[in-house]
Amino acid sequence: MTVSAVFDSRRMLSSGIVYLIGAGPGDPGLITVKGLFCLRRADVVVYDYLANPVFLEEAPPDAERIYVGKTRGCHHVPQNQINQLLAEKAGAGKIVARLKGGDPFLFGRGGEETEFLAAQGIPFEVIPGITAGVAAAAYAGIPLTHRDYTISLGMITGHQNAAKGQAGFDWKPLAAGAGTLVFYMGMANLPLIVDRLLAEGRPTTTPVAVVRWATTSRQETLVATLADVVGKVEETGIKPPAVIIIGEVVSLREKLRWFDNRPLFGRKVLVTRSTEQAGPLVELLREAGAEAVICPVIEIAPPASWTPLDEAIQQLDRTDWLILTSANAVNMFFDRLRAFELDGRALAGVRVAAVGPKTARAIEDRGISPDLVPEKEFRAEGIAGLLATEKIAGKRVLYPRAELARDLLKRELTEAGAEVVDPIAYRTVAPAALDAGIVESLAAEEIAAVTFTSPSTVDNLVGLLGPAAIEYLRKPVLVSIGPQTSAALGRHGLPVTVEASPSTMEGMLEGLSGCFSEHIQNKPA
Ligand code: SAH
Repeated sequence: MTVSAVFDSRRMLSSGIVYLIGAGPGDPGLITVKGLFCLRRADVVVYDYLANPVFLEEAPPDAERIYVGKTRGCHHVPQNQINQLLAEKAGAGKIVARLKGGDPFLFGRGGEETEFLAAQGIPFEVIPGITAGVAAAAYAGIPLTHRDYTISLGMITGHQNAAKGQAGFDWKPLAAGAGTLVFYMGMANLPLIVDRLLAEGRPTTTPVAVVRWATTSRQETLVATLADVVGKVEETGIKPPAVIIIGEVVSLREKLRWFDNRPLFGRKVLVTRSTEQAGPLVELLREAGAEAVICPVIEIAPPASWTPLDEAIQQLDRTDWLILTSANAVNMFFDRLRAFELDGRALAGVRVAAVGPKTARAIEDRGISPDLVPEKEFRAEGIAGLLATEKIAGKRVLYPRAELARDLLKRELTEAGAEVVDPIAYRTVAPAALDAGIVESLAAEEIAAVTFTSPSTVDNLVGLLGPAAIEYLRKPVLVSIGPQTSAALGRHGLPVTVEASPSTMEGMLEGLSGCFSEHIQNKPA
């Protein structure tokens, strides 16, 4: 049985409950399966600033979303008001997802919230989360325990009361006892924390790591010792939210660092593909540590008229080859087949060629194995060359294409004696405007690279940016997927920093990584 089947088979309460969900430290992958499942059932989501905003997208579109975190003036919604809100909504029969950063029961007031709900007789469940301290250690390459260094761990709030030694807080056993110490909310009291630990006998040479915005592309890590950490924090200006990890294990980071030394770590990279197509590049960029900023400058639209494609579909039984040169063409073609209540069987006698591996995969997703895929040169030239080696003369070739496709393929195949039918299967159009936040990031020179996957991504972005385009695109690395796209950049007077080879998403990533390959020391600004 799969994990999700466990939940699907469980009868979910249909009304009146609060799920206290630990949303993890920031990386959206670090919420639990159960947490996500409950979130997707919510009528009301109550959240604060440490929970990643992408989770809000997971709740049903009509769910009520209530922010109870810090506001600009740093005022919190009072805890009793949050308690009341949870009880009220669940009391009215709603499924309430109370999203909390990290784990709800670790310095997260989950205790207070559930006490209140219990007293009111409101049903609740607590779904644990990956707490910031554990996550920060993992993503900084610091094993919190290690047999050669320490066998114990303390998690402490550095918040005023504890640090000042109130509430019976005894620093002696802490300093001498637990090997590794993790302080939450400790930045304001760092000098005090350091003083107490030193006063109780921790050596000045004890390594310390301050990890800010752990697990996100903004993660910053400062490594110091008890002797100099206060000075270094002041010098670098590293700010909350951060956890402070103290202990000999911190020294392992040098060997075990894996997250923030990836080639594109912390760099913002613009992806200009259509939303439907952005996925694979976004995934690759994230794996390399980049923050992919999705900025679609292309929307896929149906052709002005379906008639030419429809006529071609009706003649599939006398068609020898079907050539598909993009996932868009695949999707439009197969969706159109369905409009005639046809499916892959209509291609029984037709051989299918794909321009490259991505298109091939899209064809496979429709249950058809392509007969021909170039091994390199994933563009029109590649497939034209390959088809030339087939006996193409006298054959009927269907090539459903983009409105703006080059005529190379049609020309070469016609010259080779084929009868080429090339109906327009889709058009690419520019959206009405760019997201204002993205334009701001470009203006503020925060974007490290812009990726272009077709000539129209170039034309459209330049068009949408208007007269300032050249200025906006002066700073970032400009990555082109291949010669046609590079030519488009050239036409607008823009330099090509990298051209992918091979012309794939992987090729783009490799080129891009090369641009930033010098070892990146993620020093806080
Ligand atoms: N319940 C949360 C802790 C909330 S207290 C948890 O289990 O993680 C808030 C403190 O958590 C912050 O002051 C900071 O010390 C820490 N924190 C939360 N998210 C963090 C992150 N992404 N990186 C570093 N510290 C974080």
